Amino acid sequence: MLIDSTSHPGTVKFKLNAVSLQTLKAGSDWDEELESGRSRAVLQNVATFRAALLIWGVGRTFVVAIRRSEEIRFRCVTNARKPQLRAEVWLMGARLAIALLVMTACVGGKAVAEPYHLIPGAVPLDAGPDGNTIVLDAPDGLIVFDTGRHPEHARAILDYAKARRRPIAAIVNSHWHLDHTTGNWDIRRDYPQVKVYASNAMQGALKTYLKQSRAETDAVLADPRTPPAERDQLLRGRAVIDHPERILPDHVVTRSGRMRIAGRLLEVHLAKFAATEGDVWIYDPRTRIVIAGDLVVALVPFLDTACAQGWAKALTEIAARPFRTLIPGHGQSMRPEDFRQWSKAYHNLLGCTQSDADEKVCIAGWDKDAAKFIDDAHKTYVDQALDYYIKKRLRAPEEQKRYCKPLA
Ligand SMILES: [Zn+2]
Repeated sequence: MLIDSTSHPGTVKFKLNAVSLQTLKAGSDWDEELESGRSRAVLQNVATFRAALLIWGVGRTFVVAIRRSEEIRFRCVTNARKPQLRAEVWLMGARLAIALLVMTACVGGKAVAEPYHLIPGAVPLDAGPDGNTIVLDAPDGLIVFDTGRHPEHARAILDYAKARRRPIAAIVNSHWHLDHTTGNWDIRRDYPQVKVYASNAMQGALKTYLKQSRAETDAVLADPRTPPAERDQLLRGRAVIDHPERILPDHVVTRSGRMRIAGRLLEVHLAKFAATEGDVWIYDPRTRIVIAGDLVVALVPFLDTACAQGWAKALTEIAARPFRTLIPGHGQSMRPEDFRQWSKAYHNLLGCTQSDADEKVCIAGWDKDAAKFIDDAHKTYVDQALDYYIKKRLRAPEEQKRYCKPLA
């Protein structure tokens, strides 16, 4: 469901040697880049002071306006000169208008603008999904978190960069699923200097899961009934499996820590054996956003390549960060209470599938717990996906063992 199948048993030659993998050594960039708590505290104090000054300024304008209106009313009663009064009324009106404009700008404008740009990934019912793309600004250019599957999604990322007149300096892939990595190739063609950060989990997947997907893809492509749109999607997926150097990272994330990417300091986390063998998620302490990749998928956890217990552990680690907004791998941004609800639904699902409860009970439990994340159009999709995941993954001990250790 998630990953294009592509195949050619026995003839797959992965050009892994062509890819230069630059492993980040322990203690190189990471801890040295720590911002001191003191400088962060100073920045927070400055922001608070500026907000207080703004509120005082707007409030003061209203107080002056009210006082002036009192004076004008008094002078009307005492028959002061009319032209002078008219000018003062105009002046007071202008002051009030400016105060209202400032307040509108604060409430509806920049002060509440999100500190990231989201290019939502679609989850169509008749084709593979695109993962969400999140773009962050950095001193050296843009950081693109996940690049989608379809060419239209990659085009939207490139169009955004061009509209912003900023180069794409870095890509971070949350995990190797092709709905998050295929667009790496489109971006690399336009920005050959781009640095790609990801775990090395794709190496094992190329020898196992993706190899099998490729075989299945060829079978589907050989069928003349396969519609052209699906054919295009499969060919695009097969092309990157055959040429993994197009999408593989040149900066391998091997552990969690602070890291400077394109000149911007971020907390980069590596969750081992979760949705895949290595999931990368980000916490930005400055803006307090979490970019979760497929560790959070609004509709339903995509468990194709998951180690269910490792995933639960990763959710606990995310919950420990003091974030304000979380952007999932698929679906809309979440507030902390939304994430807590989703995480609870995940843990309940796991508990249910580990009990003797009927599969239908577990599916109904998810539908209820995660109801606010499931739109009407995707209800059947969610139930069918869960039916598959419970049978083929969560209640398949051999599969769980397989995905809770390195793929090989
Ligand atoms: Zn995904």
